[in-house]
Amino acid sequence: MIDVHCHLEQEDFAKDLEEVIKRARESGLKAIITCCANPNDLKKSLEIVEKYKNYAFLTASIHPIHVPEFGDEQIIEFLEKIKELAKAGKIVGIGETGLDYYWVKDEKQRERQKEVFHLHIELAKKLKLPLVVHSREANEETVKILDEFNYEKILWHFFGDKKLVSWLIAKNYKASFNTFLLKSKTHKKIVKKLPLEQILLETDSPWLGFGKRNEPSAIVKVAEKIAEIKKLGFEEVWQSCGRNAKEFFELNVKSF
Ligand SMILES: [Zn+2]
Repeated sequence: MIDVHCHLEQEDFAKDLEEVIKRARESGLKAIITCCANPNDLKKSLEIVEKYKNYAFLTASIHPIHVPEFGDEQIIEFLEKIKELAKAGKIVGIGETGLDYYWVKDEKQRERQKEVFHLHIELAKKLKLPLVVHSREANEETVKILDEFNYEKILWHFFGDKKLVSWLIAKNYKASFNTFLLKSKTHKKIVKKLPLEQILLETDSPWLGFGKRNEPSAIVKVAEKIAEIKKLGFEEVWQSCGRNAKEFFELNVKSF
């Protein structure tokens, strides 16, 4: 199994990351993909993937909620940096990027989110890297943009829109699920319909711990829930979702 989306650089992990990684390994996780979603976090993120080489991998971007904090030049500069890092093999995907209309209400900033989303997609295409998509209360616009670009390596992280399941299947895009699945009927229905080949697992930790800090080892609970919903063995889900992640991100990790 691989946790395809979490944020290990967050302060929440500063004191005991070593222990967190140890528990992840003990839970059977073969790799963790940490997501740097803010240019200010890049240094820390790179230190983590360097320290846990071949176990922790990195995706990077400017999260749509952080777009208003940066000027156009800073954004271009950061994307240039991502390009360099990707060429040096230090980044395995672009994201999370997309639209967030829940946190960003200002029309002008929403337009900027779109522009920055475009830039990220173009970059992923150029580098032939997976794109990790974030969309909150902006799914219609997000789909429109993804259809326009028609890039095949898409992972829609924290996917949760029943109306988009057929679209996602037709596109053969990947979707990732986290512990929110344990609480949400909608997510359970989606998982039921979606072929296992398109499902990846994530934790989005430190978030989604429901009052507590979340961490990658919690992915076991997500896999158990998927097995229950799809009436499959735990081992099958564990192996398949791990393999899906390994192939999608082309990770150089030991086979399962
Ligand atoms: Zn995230």
